[in-house]
Amino acid sequence: MMGDRDFRSVIQNTVRSIGKELEIEIDSENTQKIHLQEVVQCLRRSYYDRLEPEEIERKGFNDLLSGLLRKLQYGSEPKEFAIDEIQLKGQADMIVDDSILLFRAATSELESPNANDVLYLNACMWIYDKDDGIIVYITGDRQETTFSLTRNKKMFEEIIRRVRVLHDLLKEKKVPILEPSVDCSECQYYERCFMKKKNTKQLSLAEMLGMGKED
Ligand code: SF4
Repeated sequence: MMGDRDFRSVIQNTVRSIGKELEIEIDSENTQKIHLQEVVQCLRRSYYDRLEPEEIERKGFNDLLSGLLRKLQYGSEPKEFAIDEIQLKGQADMIVDDSILLFRAATSELESPNANDVLYLNACMWIYDKDDGIIVYITGDRQETTFSLTRNKKMFEEIIRRVRVLHDLLKEKKVPILEPSVDCSECQYYERCFMKKKNTKQLSLAEMLGMGKED
């Protein structure tokens, strides 16, 4: 009979393999193509993902929801939006009746949508030239919360600005500044950003904020 620990590692390996299969493929050398996912999350994380990656630890099948939907036959095709010489590439989970649909896993019912998801959905509306979009959050116990949005130009201009910043920093091989948020605690680069040294030396505030000299 399989022991508890073996069983857990089988699940972890399965989630890791499926996660790899569903990951958005990013050519780390191609700085002319920026993926929407890279600019709605912390730019520093996206920079590390391209140039000094570390594997992310996936918690369970819930994390894979959006990727699975994109791969299904009714998932939408990726689309590109030109920003001067840069291509911004996005992919909606689905397009139904001229509306963009995103599906995200949640641990509990949400009162408002996550900021990253709103930015992603809004940018998809511009990339696919649609006016309406919906984010559906689904919890492990199958509760659904739905939010509708209409597209907003200012928010998309912020995405365009972030595309340019990431493009320039990748080209110049300069690490983006920290963007502290609730996502940091789950980020695989947490220690690079906040706890550079494991010894007892006291860190200066500048070092903790990643403003000191890079290693
Ligand atoms: S720990 Fe936070 S600031 Fe650092 S890369 Fe991750 S998300 Fe960005």
